[in-house]
Amino acid sequence: MLFDTGPRNNGSVILDHVRQLGFTARDLKWIVLSHSHAAHIGALAEIAEQTGAHVYAHPAAEGWLIDHQRQFRERYERFSDRLPLDETFKNYFFDRLGRPWYPNTWIETFPLSLDTPRSMEIRHTPGHSSDSISLYLKEEGILICGDAFMGAGTGNTLPRYDDPEAYTATLTSFLELQPNLLLSAHFAPLSREKLQPALQQSQTMVELLHRFIHESLKRRPDGYDIGFLTRMVTARFSRITDVVAAIPVQAHLMALEREGKVHFEIDRWKPGAPKQSIVIESIIR
Ligand SMILES: [Zn+2]
Ligand SMILES: [Zn+2]
Repeated sequence: MLFDTGPRNNGSVILDHVRQLGFTARDLKWIVLSHSHAAHIGALAEIAEQTGAHVYAHPAAEGWLIDHQRQFRERYERFSDRLPLDETFKNYFFDRLGRPWYPNTWIETFPLSLDTPRSMEIRHTPGHSSDSISLYLKEEGILICGDAFMGAGTGNTLPRYDDPEAYTATLTSFLELQPNLLLSAHFAPLSREKLQPALQQSQTMVELLHRFIHESLKRRPDGYDIGFLTRMVTARFSRITDVVAAIPVQAHLMALEREGKVHFEIDRWKPGAPKQSIVIESIIR
């Protein structure tokens, strides 16, 4: 089984490893995609084609998995009139993507026990994205979670998620599961002892960001546009201010709106209760 394919042209690297382990490409039977983001799916077509593996993904992955232009538009380009989006970033995004490939199975029920020699389970672990799924190797107690865990705090970039509440709940589910090892895509492996402090620190960061954004809005009845607010957040919590940083900031704004604490009006997020006529999507061009 392969969990995520990595970027375009990664196929030969992975299949070399498969052969070094004494297997052939055809022995790779299943591919599970953690979610639809570019770096995780770029080599899907090349690996699926060469192996004939059965591909599993969450149904919410469909739009971005098969339409890469749409992924770019909806994830980044929509913020580009407010925040920097340079050509290098754009080229890097598309460079990682190979041909689109349609999965064999959209997983509808969770957790899903797989009919494999090893006891494995696919769990829905949303927050980073609604389509995020994790693979749990029951006997070994190893949880492979893709981007469902976004690191213990902020470094150069803000932790990325589409829904802070779901993200926090997913980390709580990891704490309850108590795996021996947590393997995420972009951060160091976490052994059982390191799991709790790292996950709790990540949850604390989410709370701090939530409070900071809410307090900032309360200080200014006029509100802010997404660019201004993102600059405020990155100046306080990270280093890089670009379209990518707007993703978690907007996620917090949407959560605050669900809580009835802010609302969106003519291009600006303002403190106060939501009004009926608001179309949140209009912020997103
Ligand atoms: Zn991701
Ligand atoms: Zn990722």
